[in-house]
Amino acid sequence: MNHFDITQAQPKVWSILSRSFSNKRTASTYLFHGREGLGQWPLAISFAALLNCLKPVKAEETGLIFPCGKCRPCRSIYALNFEGLHFALPISSHKNSDEMIDLTNELLEQKRQEPFKLFLSAQAVTIPIAMAREIKRTLTRKAPKGIRRVVLFYRMEKMKASSADALLKLIEEPPGDTVIILTADRPEALLPTIQSRAQKIRFDRVPEAVAAGYLMSNCGVKENRARLVVRICEGNVGQALEMVSSDEEDDGSSRAVGQLLFRSLFTEPKPEVVALITELIKDRDRGAAESLLGLWQSLIRDCAYYADTGDGDDLVNIDFAEELKRLARFFEKSRLAAAMTDNIKKALADLQVNVHIHISLVALVLKLRSHMPAAEQDRKIAGCERY
Ligand SMILES: [Zn+2]
Repeated sequence: MNHFDITQAQPKVWSILSRSFSNKRTASTYLFHGREGLGQWPLAISFAALLNCLKPVKAEETGLIFPCGKCRPCRSIYALNFEGLHFALPISSHKNSDEMIDLTNELLEQKRQEPFKLFLSAQAVTIPIAMAREIKRTLTRKAPKGIRRVVLFYRMEKMKASSADALLKLIEEPPGDTVIILTADRPEALLPTIQSRAQKIRFDRVPEAVAAGYLMSNCGVKENRARLVVRICEGNVGQALEMVSSDEEDDGSSRAVGQLLFRSLFTEPKPEVVALITELIKDRDRGAAESLLGLWQSLIRDCAYYADTGDGDDLVNIDFAEELKRLARFFEKSRLAAAMTDNIKKALADLQVNVHIHISLVALVLKLRSHMPAAEQDRKIAGCERY
């Protein structure tokens, strides 16, 4: 996918950005909000390129403007080494500034390879205040001539409120030659003063054809599977990438797959859940099936606990906390948790004696679905589709 196409992940967003640029009404601070993986990163980078492109290109049919992708500023922006492009990223804990720089460079390298890639929550703990201060210092100097600086605060909700407070002035009034882009899952996760200063732009699910096309061309996934995965991931390309890379069997991504499959039990039509589980587990061994079911047991416990107490601090699966809170409503006032846990226990016992892993799991999925009210079984459950 080239730089023109990547903006198709969020056609509405690009239309807003492109028009504000054409009308010379670019905001000084933007807040891109929506779940990570919907294209906030590539859109921010493309916008930075547009602001600095020497030969922007106009699409005749729509009148929208795109960066050329070829001039020197475009190339260095897409390579993430443009002198006017600055990043504040959530990183894991570190001992000193050298380590902070190394961790940042690692993440930038990942994003260079794959702009939709999610930051794993274990890596992305907090945006350090030192990083923010460094950016503040840089911005006190004038931008080199002809450069429109862009500062991307990625996943701003990962910055401590006290640190964010120190940035208020900068965010309220960035220097005239600078555009600030904040991203966050939800705007309410940020200080009200920050929210009110920024132009908010919402990121919705990526159109299915675009997302599936991306998986097909970038990961060599076949069309049927690509479409299925995109649907299960609710049009989130970052999550879809995690899911298709799970074939490589590393722990982090099979965990992500297990979580998404769990969600799909509640949100997707039955045939699709069965198709997905078939696709994903046909080559897996017994051990992988058992750890999938172990994960589901733990997710069920979390849902039931949250439904019961409303306490999100003690959830075990904190990397899936937001989804668990949404799913918890299925577990209110019912024996759903107990029934599901029973089914899983039986399936685990089955796996010990049964050679047909795939059949056992499909049978389990059907049983788990049977606990839901009939009317809800084969259609999407309202309100559970997205945040
Ligand atoms: Zn260009």
